Amino acid sequence: MRVYLDQAATSWPKPPEVLQAVERFFTQVGCNVNRGGYAAAYTAAEVVLETRERLCRLFGFDKPAQVIFTAGVTASLNQLLKGLLRPGDHLLVSALEHNAVMRPLAQLVEQGVSFDRLPAGPDGRLPEDLEGALELLLRPNTRMLVVTHASNVCGVLLPLARLGAFCRAHGLWFVVDAAQTGGVESIHMGAMGIDALAFAGHKGLLGPQGLGGFLVRRELAERMEPLVAGGTGSFSHLERMPNQLPDRFEAGTLNLPGIFGLHAALGWLERTGIDAVRQREQQLLERLLSQLDGLPDLRLLGPRDPAQRTAVAALDFPGRDNGEVAFQLDQAGIMVRCGLHCAPNAHRVLGSYPQGAVRLSAGWYNTPQEMDYTAQVIKRLIAG
Ligand code: PMP
Repeated sequence: MRVYLDQAATSWPKPPEVLQAVERFFTQVGCNVNRGGYAAAYTAAEVVLETRERLCRLFGFDKPAQVIFTAGVTASLNQLLKGLLRPGDHLLVSALEHNAVMRPLAQLVEQGVSFDRLPAGPDGRLPEDLEGALELLLRPNTRMLVVTHASNVCGVLLPLARLGAFCRAHGLWFVVDAAQTGGVESIHMGAMGIDALAFAGHKGLLGPQGLGGFLVRRELAERMEPLVAGGTGSFSHLERMPNQLPDRFEAGTLNLPGIFGLHAALGWLERTGIDAVRQREQQLLERLLSQLDGLPDLRLLGPRDPAQRTAVAALDFPGRDNGEVAFQLDQAGIMVRCGLHCAPNAHRVLGSYPQGAVRLSAGWYNTPQEMDYTAQVIKRLIAG
């Protein structure tokens, strides 16, 4: 049996219409947008606009021109952090952030930006007195709060609406990394007070790799310097980047095969409904976890309650080498991700640093049989 349980890294397989849309791009469209005055280019431009509109609907936003395509969450967070923060600025981050936040921040620290981490408990959850904990960290120069919506290590969900309300009350920009939750958890930028949201096209959104982006409120977009400058196919008489959105942050040729694929994936998601996706993924993970509950020499990181987590299970096998466990799973055809998952501090919080953990993540296309098989293999491993 071949079981793909690394959906938190990238989802696989994709809905068949995603592949068909990418093929349609290459066989029937093939051109660029904003550059050609012919019918195919207008068709492509329509798909690009509709993709921005679908992303707005999914994320509770209403400004398609402020949906910016990039190569992924990493590129989006680099743009947002480096484009908005200036020497002397301070920001707050959660203790669970991915290196897509922490590494750009490390570069910014060298330029005089400083940050504090909001503490998290040993199961990854934020303090009960969240507002009190945030207030303790505030400084007169605090500009921004950046959080991941869910930990990519243990799946714990962060309370976006509460964090957003705090940011509004204290004049902070609220930037959210939705890599792990886009297409699975409901997100409403307006209701949650989110100023900028970074998304990955290739995880829960079920599109191709190499495409992601961010949705950003105008006030932030106007303060933000583009990290990459170049041709936009518009305002070509200017030798500086135009102010027009999304052009200002989309220099260079767009990833059109990726956008065609994402367009189809978002159509699939709209028809299927993210509640159905979440429910199915949770049922699958629950089926696995319920067979592992109470086993000796096995520790689940993060909260056990499915309402507080995504369909990600990070397992620590005390007394064993987690890398060896992942190898044994691979031998049995089960694909998982072992190590620190680009989030070393999350592992520190969860007590799994430096040994890391074995992460299994379920997606729409996994099956109950795969979960049963995986549980059996893990039980055999522990018994052996
Ligand atoms: N943030 C989180 C929480 C992630 O899980 C990931 C993907 N591992 C990223 C950021 C980076 O996403 P991408 O590789 O698509 O840029």
